[in-house]
Amino acid sequence: MLTITGAKELSELLEERRKTGGKIGFVPTMGALHDGHISLVEKAASENDIVVASVFVNPAQFNDKSDLEHYPRTFDADQKLLQNSGCDILFFPSIEEMYPAGPDVPSIQVDLGGLDKVMEGKFRPGHFEGVVKVLKRFFDITGFCNAYFGEKDFQQLAIVKRMVSELRLPVHVVGCPIKRENDGLAMSSRNTRLTIEERKIAGKISIALRHAESKWNARSVSETIADITAELTEEKAFRIDYIEIADRDTLQPLSENEKRNAIVCVAVFLGQVRLIDNIFLS
Ligand code: AMP
Repeated sequence: MLTITGAKELSELLEERRKTGGKIGFVPTMGALHDGHISLVEKAASENDIVVASVFVNPAQFNDKSDLEHYPRTFDADQKLLQNSGCDILFFPSIEEMYPAGPDVPSIQVDLGGLDKVMEGKFRPGHFEGVVKVLKRFFDITGFCNAYFGEKDFQQLAIVKRMVSELRLPVHVVGCPIKRENDGLAMSSRNTRLTIEERKIAGKISIALRHAESKWNARSVSETIADITAELTEEKAFRIDYIEIADRDTLQPLSENEKRNAIVCVAVFLGQVRLIDNIFLS
């Protein structure tokens, strides 16, 4: 596996490989890798000739300075994991390499059709602007590729698909299922910041979502939200940011008795750590 830090070097290398018919798979990450990330890399490896994974903690997408400061960074372990999972190129750029004019450069103008106005967009102002900014830069560097994103960040996946289509970028976006720990907790780089006590109860988020899924046919939107709220608040340590039941395509909230194409998305704080999860209801 090659480790590359220069954008121009990566661009040129991928261009060369495309000329000889190589299909490029790209997996953008913020590092602190776990099996969720690795499942994306393995899928990319099974569908492409060359796999590029990036490790870049994007300052532009953190609305909370302390979250950025405390974001786990485990580069040596990341490198080893990628090496063993079929990754060919690790792209590890500096902030200057990604943002030659600084991360405060103007946002990319793109109509996201309101996908960015709900859920994470409401609770983390500026977050998706930062995501779009960094991905536009990444896709300019990689050029034509298949890009792999997890359903763990379902709203991000929807926004990336929309962005690629609006900006007519030569990128095919591939969604990948959520990888979970044995107790159901969605794998996340942030899980390592949970205390032992918090980690013991963190699995209750996905258990509450699975209960909601199994009762969905018999419960309305507000009843389902109330059920999940009640189950989570049994644990005093959870602080709920939002529980939303939305249409999977538009991400707009479902009306009371709508049933089709539903996803429930939650964001909760457990101590200092903010966790998100989701499950398809229908
Ligand atoms: P991150 O490093 O958190 O920015 O995540 C990089 C990519 O990995 C994103 O596309 C995430 O949605 C995806 N990802 C993170 N956690 C998981 C998981 N548990 N299962 C599947 N994909 C994941």
